[in-house]
Order: sequence, then structure tokens, then C-alpha cells
Amino acid sequence: MSNDHIQVWNRCLSKIKESVKPQSFSTWFVPIRPLRLEGSVLTIQVPNKFFFEWLEEHHVETLKKAIQTEIGTNAELKYLIPKKTAISQNPSFKKASDNLSSAQVKGNKIKNPFVIPGIQKVKIDSQLNTNYTFEHFIEGDCNRLARAAGLAIAKRPGKTAFNPLMIFGDVGLGKTHLAQAIGNEVLNQFNDKAVLYVSSERFTNQFIDALRNNAITDFLKFYQLVDLLILDDIQFLENKQKTQDIFFSIFNHLHQGGKQLILTSDRPPKELAGIEERLISRFKWGLSADLQVPSLETRMAIIQKKMDNDGVNLPPTVMEFVSHNVRTNVREMEGVLISIIAQAALNQREIDLDLAKEVVSKFVDNISTEITVEFIQKIVAEHYDIPMEKLKEKTRKRFVVRARQLSMYLAKQLSNKSLKHIGNAFGGRDHSTVIHACRSIESLLENDTRFKTEVSGLAKRLKSTGL
Ligand code: ADP
Ligand code: MG
Repeated sequence: MSNDHIQVWNRCLSKIKESVKPQSFSTWFVPIRPLRLEGSVLTIQVPNKFFFEWLEEHHVETLKKAIQTEIGTNAELKYLIPKKTAISQNPSFKKASDNLSSAQVKGNKIKNPFVIPGIQKVKIDSQLNTNYTFEHFIEGDCNRLARAAGLAIAKRPGKTAFNPLMIFGDVGLGKTHLAQAIGNEVLNQFNDKAVLYVSSERFTNQFIDALRNNAITDFLKFYQLVDLLILDDIQFLENKQKTQDIFFSIFNHLHQGGKQLILTSDRPPKELAGIEERLISRFKWGLSADLQVPSLETRMAIIQKKMDNDGVNLPPTVMEFVSHNVRTNVREMEGVLISIIAQAALNQREIDLDLAKEVVSKFVDNISTEITVEFIQKIVAEHYDIPMEKLKEKTRKRFVVRARQLSMYLAKQLSNKSLKHIGNAFGGRDHSTVIHACRSIESLLENDTRFKTEVSGLAKRLKSTGL
């Protein structure tokens, strides 16, 4: 058997190495194994599905460039995941494109701008990811409205008041996930609907291509066939007058036809400075819902869900450490987790707090050594096996009172927060309640050695999450 694939891949690697950060290179590219080269098709093996998705989402362009340079412009890349067969076409994309192609026949061969020669997988990159479902999207205060609107739309696309639905929020908070979950759910419920997900950047490029090839009519007709159009990251359209014009026309056509539109943006509509007023005013026809930073509890639930899906067991201390220190961006949190898992696999190390600390310190600029009141509440509530919310309620059940007082005591000891701040965090109680709680716990500590051991165990656990 020829070793071409190994040589070709090694050359690709040296190209890739020049364009990605060393940390990314060792995490994401070193573990890849080249398997075979058949004609212009290079098959590579990646450790797991996580890996595949990460590469597709973050490094597809780098891979594309490298293999096209080495193999030629018709190069194709196939991924293989151990124990599974090569990843097949995304089934929901198939459904969408089948619908479109049957419509195409009727409409006299409309050119589909998604068919791109070159890497096979690139086709999938901008269509629905079947993992982005509602089931995998954890609900929290941070996303309740947007999620509920999304579910309503999925049941009756184009028929609710939420048209268009505009999802906005900072990067990494789940806009793409939620928008795609709606698309996936619509396909689940109505398999005759044509759903299309496209990033604004891709839309713009397709439009430029169409302009260049004199194919604007085809381009328009193609988009007008869609029943649910998801246009991601519309801030990208800022100051792109012509692209906005064509989107305006597509928007009007679809909206008038009772078709659903979903848009996402990294800021609220009124802050989209370089977007025409007539488009902004249309965005306001429906519902604008924002995604906010998830609370600690939601972040932990998100991690738990991801790990369950992937069949990975993380020690609770590692989960706590990561969710406590990576706060503002769910994507970054995922990156940290995947990196921990990859490092453990590569170096045959156990996943433990030390490894987590190493990885987090590479990702997060200023790791907090501060222990938040929220975190203390979370850990204590878990210890007493009660919902965290109970600590903030008025209930006088003995074990809830104990848990509440202990949380206040620990907050006073460990959090550097004022009595007023602490009281506030417990459903708006005043500082005298906190003082009273601290006194009660102190007298218990003096008289009950079992309780004392319990408390010092908890305190130790809380402290271990700082670096
Ligand atoms: P955005 O488009 O806002 O930049 P993404 O939708 O790409 O963010 O989300 C980043 C990552 O975080 C994705 O992998 C997504 O699955 C995950 N994520 C965000 N919010 C949630 C949530 N509520 N539940 C589960 N996963 C989430
Ligand atoms: Mg996104």
C-alpha cells in the first residue's frame, strides 16, 4: 500500500501549522490520522464527533486551503470517526435540498448556489447541524423568551406573530444553536418544508458570485423557494448596500408569502448602524429576543448535557471549576472542556482538577480566585439536595433554614462581599439577617463536631475552585 496519504497529510500539517495558534495545532490537528488517499479524496480519522464538529466549525477554511494546495482544487476531504462509518450527509440538509430540487424541476433548473465544487464537507458547513436541537439547548433565565418563541415558531412556522424572529446576543451565547434548533424542529414536524440555514457572510459571497456570473435571477428564485430562512449574524451585512437590497427583496417576498424568517445578530436591531432603516423596521415587525450570559447553574447544566451526550464522565470538581471560571461565553466553555478531554486522551492522563486548571489558565485571561455568592449557594444547595432557589425563598423548613444560614456564613467567610450584598443575594434580605445567620452557624460549629467536619469539607471544595 502506498504511503502517499501520510506524506500528503504531513505537508498539509506544515501548512496548517503556519496559520493556526500552537495550542490549537496541538489540540486539533496533531491527533488527526491520515488513512488513505484515493484519487483526490483524502480520508482522515478524527478521535470523536466533538472533534469533527469543532474542525468543521472553526478550521474548515484552513483545512480546505491546505488540501487544495497539496492535492489540487478538486480535492475532497472525508472524515472517519472510529467505530462509526464515515460521516454521511447531514440528513436534515438532504431533506431540505430534496424539497428544493423537486421545486427546481418545476422552476426550470434554478441554480443552487450551495453546490460548490471542491471539498465535499464544505457543503454541509452552512446547513443545519442535526446536533443543534431544542433537546440539547438548556433552558435558563438567560434564554427563556427566545427559546419559547422558537418553540412556538417550530409548531407553526410563518403563522405566529414572531415573524421575523430576531435573536440577538453576544458571541458564544447560543444564537446559532437556537436558530438551528428551530430549523431542525420544523423539519421534524413538517418534512415537506424547505428549511435553509445560511450565514450572512455566505449569503453575501453567493450574491457576489451570482452578480459576477450574471445569475441574480437564479439566486433570487432559489431563495424565494424557501419556507423557513435562517440568516445568521446579520451584523455582517452592515454597510453592504447591494446585499441588503437583495435581502430586502427576498425578505418581502417570503414574508408576504407567509414564510418564516429567523435572523440573528450580535446586537439589538437599533444598534445595527450600517443597515438600512427600511430593513431595520422590518426586523421589528416580529419579535426581538435576546440571549444573555447563563447563570452558574445553567452553565453547569449545559456542561452536564454536553458530557452526557458524548458519554464522557467528568468529576464534579472539574465541572464546577470550569463553569465557575469560564463565565461569559458558552462556546469558550465548550472549547475548554474539549481541550481537557483531548489533553487527557493524548497524554493518557486522568481528567482531574490539576489538568482542568492547566487548560483553563491557557484559555482564560484572568481566572478569578474570587468565590461568588452564587457559587456558594449552588454548592450548599447541592449538598443539602434542595433547589438553589429555595435559599432565596421565605420558607422556614428547618433544613432549608440551615442551608440558607450556612450559605450566608460561607459567603461572609469566603466571598469578600458586604453583608448587604450577601443579604440581597438571598431574596433581598437585610444585613441583620446575615449577621444572625453567621452567629447561629458559629454556635453550631462550636457544639457539633460532625457539623464542623461537614462545613470544613464544603469550604475546602469551594476554595479548590480558585487557582
Ligand atoms: P452564537 O451563535 O451566539 O455565537 P452558538 O450558538 O454557536 O453561539 O453557541 C456556542 C456553543 O454553545 C454551541 O456549541 C452551543 O451548542 C452552546 N450553547 C449555547 N447555549 C446553550 C444552551 N443554552 N444549551 C446548550 N448549549 C448551548
Ligand atoms: Mg453564531
